[in-house]
Amino acid sequence: MGIKTREEYLASLEKQRPEVFIGGEKIHDVINNKYFRISIEEMCKFYDWANDPEKEKDFTFWSPIINDKVSFWTHLRKTPDEVRQLIEVMKKNNARHFCSMCMITGLNVLWAVTYDIDQAKGTNYHERLKNFFRELQTNDSRYCMGVMDPKGDRSKSPSRQADPDLYLRVVERNENGIIVNGAKMHTSNAPITHYIFTCPSGVLQEADKDYAVSFAIPVDTKGIKFITRPAPGPREPKEIESPASSHIGFVECLTVFDHVFVPWERVFMCGEWEFTKNLIDYFSPYVRICKGSCTSARTDILAGAAALISHYNGTDKASHIKSKITDMMISSEIGWGCALASVSKSVVHPSGIPIPDTSIANAGLYHSRLRFIEFLGTLQEIAGGLVTTMPAETEYLSEESRAYIEKYLKGRDDIPTEDRLKLLYFIQDLTASRFSGYLMASAICAGGTPETNRVEVARNYNLLEKISNVKALCNIK
Ligand SMILES: Cc1cc2nc3c(=O)[nH]c(=O)nc-3n(C[C@H](O)[C@H](O)[C@H](O)COP(=O)(O)OP(=O)(O)OC[C@H]3O[C@@H](n4cnc5c(N)ncnc54)[C@H](O)[C@@H]3O)c2cc1C
Repeated sequence: MGIKTREEYLASLEKQRPEVFIGGEKIHDVINNKYFRISIEEMCKFYDWANDPEKEKDFTFWSPIINDKVSFWTHLRKTPDEVRQLIEVMKKNNARHFCSMCMITGLNVLWAVTYDIDQAKGTNYHERLKNFFRELQTNDSRYCMGVMDPKGDRSKSPSRQADPDLYLRVVERNENGIIVNGAKMHTSNAPITHYIFTCPSGVLQEADKDYAVSFAIPVDTKGIKFITRPAPGPREPKEIESPASSHIGFVECLTVFDHVFVPWERVFMCGEWEFTKNLIDYFSPYVRICKGSCTSARTDILAGAAALISHYNGTDKASHIKSKITDMMISSEIGWGCALASVSKSVVHPSGIPIPDTSIANAGLYHSRLRFIEFLGTLQEIAGGLVTTMPAETEYLSEESRAYIEKYLKGRDDIPTEDRLKLLYFIQDLTASRFSGYLMASAICAGGTPETNRVEVARNYNLLEKISNVKALCNIK
């Protein structure tokens, strides 16, 4: 059965022995470690939703690969309509939960790339990937994406770096498999998944062919070390002061591969540098439609918070505040509209999966992510300076100071101070905390930087056609 429960997920983590460095210690047991509380709980939600009769419509699917019900995480989306449903669920889900884990689209991308390589070279990567899918789907397993390399000196290609390990590479091939050495950066949630799934982070040339490697192996494979940073929220839940970050956030890893053996059956690319361009071409629209939907949903949260606090403060009729909230709405709709439009313009790849439109997806994300950062400040402006200077939860809970806080933090008469305070703490969590820095980074860097979006639009937008239209309008021959 391709759907597991949270208890089965936790039991599966208990059996794994990943090598994890966190909080100054080396550990192997992640489930009983305080630093993993938030991220594990977040992963559990997806198991709960798949087993919840009210939510299972969005979180379970029928898979022809194993002829069984499978989860949101392991389903292969094979039509534009299925990809549209995916981002619809992301948008709806993120409006309450902030993240739908868009790394799941990595499987679609490798589905197409392995097909291309096999067609051109007679390899059998695609079948291997299908086998990996079968295993993922049957066990309802999770994986993390190891895409981004450390990259060292960004002006140099992988093979020209002073240290050749600054991009993950193949150092040995034998009859059983390959040995890889190097690292991947920013591998979100890695030690609480079951597999690390890797691929190159950019387009490679022939000299870099040892860096053209993709594979998936268990996270506790010998030689993998996760140098891990806790999620940004508090170690113990702080329901009043940190209502969002007590429950949301990833652990992040520097994932080291110290001469790690990968069996051939789990290798999906090994040396085919020519196909790294296809990889990036397919990755780009997939990642951007997901991040575009996610950023739109997060902007919706900012718009909702701005509207509510302006009501509590008695400023909701002020024209500049209404206008700023309208800007949030417009930006959210642009980001979301571009994600939808990109999917509707999908081209079906010969492997059977849709590839959404690159230019529209990147344009939408470019716009909405930059405005999101601006709106974090706008929300502070609308809420006021209290967002940063208000008394801490401890003082609100202390009998002696609470009465003063109740009196002086009152907004409109008809709104209890406690409600206003809860909302201000929420806005503080979003805009003036470690978590807000995380939200900002995830808008700006996760899924590639804004400059990448500009490059993709410039590369894919048909400017020549526009020039020729203008010539026609001017009657220039
Ligand atoms: C919250 C979060 C979660 C993430 N999760 C994952 C994950 O799960 N898996 C994963 O693989 N990655 C993940 N990432 C990584 C993310 O994809 C990268 O951070 C992003 O692609 C940017 O790469 P970088 O951080 O190496 O920055 P850089 O590439 O160093 O970019 C920094 C700046 O330098 C510029 N620059 C870089 N190279 C050049 C060059 N050659 N010429 C000119 N300018 C250049 C860029 O345009 C940018 O302005 C995550 C990131 C964040 C913030």
